Amino acid sequence: MASKGVPQFRSTDHAGTPWLDQAVCRGRTDLFFGRTSERPERRARRERIAAMLCAQCPVSVECRDFARRNREYGFWGGEDEQERHVAGYHLTAPIGLNQPRSA
Ligand code: SF4
Repeated sequence: MASKGVPQFRSTDHAGTPWLDQAVCRGRTDLFFGRTSERPERRARRERIAAMLCAQCPVSVECRDFARRNREYGFWGGEDEQERHVAGYHLTAPIGLNQPRSA
C-alpha cells in the first residue's frame, strides 16, 4: 500500500519505484490530484504550489518519467496530464484535456 500523500499508482507494479521513499510530496496528495469538477482557477493555484514542491524534489526526473510511461493523470514530476499529452505521452482516455481550437 502506498504511503499517504504520495501520488497513488494505478499500475500494478510498485516494485520498480524505490524513488518514492524520497518524494517530498508525502502528505500532500490534495495538491497533486484535483477534485471532481475542480474550477480552473483553483486547479491553477493548486498546481502552482505542487510545481514548487516538484522543483525541490530529488526524484522529479524519475517521477516524471514514471508518469509518462504509465499515462498517469494528476501532477507528477512538474507536469500535469495535459503537458504529458502534448509531450507525446498520450493518455489512454484523454478525458478533460483541452482540445486545440480550429481556425
Ligand atoms: S516530483 Fe513532485 S509529484 Fe513527484 S515525487 Fe517529487 S514532489 Fe511528488
